[in-house]
Amino acid sequence: MTTSVPATPAFAVTRPLPETVPISRLKPGDTFAFLEAPAPLTVNGTKPAPDDDGYLLLDLAEDPQPLCIWEGELIRPLRLPRVYLLHCQICEQGTHAHVDLVAHGQPELLICKRH
Ligand SMILES: [Zn+2]
Repeated sequence: MTTSVPATPAFAVTRPLPETVPISRLKPGDTFAFLEAPAPLTVNGTKPAPDDDGYLLLDLAEDPQPLCIWEGELIRPLRLPRVYLLHCQICEQGTHAHVDLVAHGQPELLICKRH
């Protein structure tokens, strides 16, 4: 997961990611920063906190102790690599799109290159 810009074989419509998102959107491999602290942090893993409903245990590469944090806490996303399976609007053929939600936005619609 080190390359972020794939060859885009098709035309895709994307929706930009907001500047802040709830921390519950983070997945392992994502990079983000807290609003009050600009230092980038890398997510190793997240899971629901066993004793606190609505809280997450966040495992960070930068901190040996998991962080217990409210899932609605707003953070600044820096790099959110994702793979989407999108279906062409015309021929319905599926294409895997590798995107960074921060750099590319969230893909919503795709026309494959056969048209
Ligand atoms: Zn198509």
